[in-house]
Amino acid sequence: MSERAAPFYCPYCGEEDLRPHEEDGTWACGDCLRVFRLAFLGVGGARAAERRTHKETSR
Ligand SMILES: [Zn+2]
Repeated sequence: MSERAAPFYCPYCGEEDLRPHEEDGTWACGDCLRVFRLAFLGVGGARAAERRTHKETSR
């Protein structure tokens, strides 16, 4: 699968000057020169956390 999620902003400095780095899923920021990896971890993390919160508050 060649299609990747592309970040719109650098998570470190907020610049939009991002370009793909050497490895799949890695990006280099043209402004702060940081290189980072963007990885998909799964679905439902936020909902799972929300559910946990509801459970705690309903007690
Ligand atoms: Zn940056």
